[in-house]
Amino acid sequence: MDISEVEMLPGQLRDEPPPAPDETVLEIRDLNVTFKTEDGPVYAVRGIDLDLSAGEVLGIVGESGSGKSVTMLAVLGLLPRTATVTGSAKFRGEQLLGRKPRELRAVRGAKIAMIFQDPLTALNPVHRVGKQITEALRAHHELPEKEAMTRAADLLDSVGIPQPEVRVNQYPHEFSGGMRQRAMIAMMIANDPDIIIADEPTTALDVTIQAQILELLKTIQERTRTAVVFITHDLGVIARIADRVQVMYAGRTAEVGNVEDVFARARHPYTRGLLSSLPALNARAARLVPITGSPPSMLFPPGGCAFHPRCPLAQDICKTDQPPLREIGAPGQCSACHFAELVVTERGTVT
Ligand code: SF4
Repeated sequence: MDISEVEMLPGQLRDEPPPAPDETVLEIRDLNVTFKTEDGPVYAVRGIDLDLSAGEVLGIVGESGSGKSVTMLAVLGLLPRTATVTGSAKFRGEQLLGRKPRELRAVRGAKIAMIFQDPLTALNPVHRVGKQITEALRAHHELPEKEAMTRAADLLDSVGIPQPEVRVNQYPHEFSGGMRQRAMIAMMIANDPDIIIADEPTTALDVTIQAQILELLKTIQERTRTAVVFITHDLGVIARIADRVQVMYAGRTAEVGNVEDVFARARHPYTRGLLSSLPALNARAARLVPITGSPPSMLFPPGGCAFHPRCPLAQDICKTDQPPLREIGAPGQCSACHFAELVVTERGTVT
């Protein structure tokens, strides 16, 4: 099916009014996550602030271990007991941290849905796909089985799965990888959530299927105006799907801003390094500047600016003083760098 022909299901199951345009649907303040381990505490997230407005796509980008997934798992109460979470995370004004598991289950799926990298983490291999979608629906709404199954087939149709009336009766192993990811997306949008959190949803797919899934998510987002948090290590994906980008490094925000502004002129050396590794954007670049070194161990994060061991602009102050996140450049663009004024990155040119 051509994605442009997809018919979305408009708010049929919504029991509350949708968020107003520009309403802040998710507000995170000073979020900290520490894991207790045998080797000592792991400081995975260290004072993250994040805002998500209705209808916007926020891309969170960073290397493995930067804390981007842990941040969202903490908000949804999906971290193991070894995690200590402090700070604030409000969904449409209501505090999520500290809520009882039963209360958080009511939020997950119905209000905030999460799409994972591996669809098999969400799809049970021993149950038919249609049955799993109807269970997701009936967990939050009183629907007769037959009506739920009809809606399950409609949902599979809406994500571009051919012969949905046949597919609802099949098991996940009878679906290709791309179709499983589509089925999981169908399950996640079943209850018309206000927020979709997509955690590396295309990383395990080949390039062609990855492009199709990105197009599908963008189509769904544009037609439903659902807010999306898209977690990835790939700035190229962010360029294709996001309105704003938040760059994370060592559990903190390095830079945040509108995608166009950040891509046109990054204000943090780490963002600059990520951009310089995008070949398509650097086709005209005189030279590429890869990020040297590796992300730090979060058992012993470096003092001052955690990026200083890898940063080409680092000076003595960077080893001792943690730079605050401050606005610089375009409106809403903020960088946590003492020398943000010296960072120069034009699209396709790194200096
Ligand atoms: Fe580099 Fe210093 Fe800026 Fe950190 S604060 S990114 S070490 S220049």
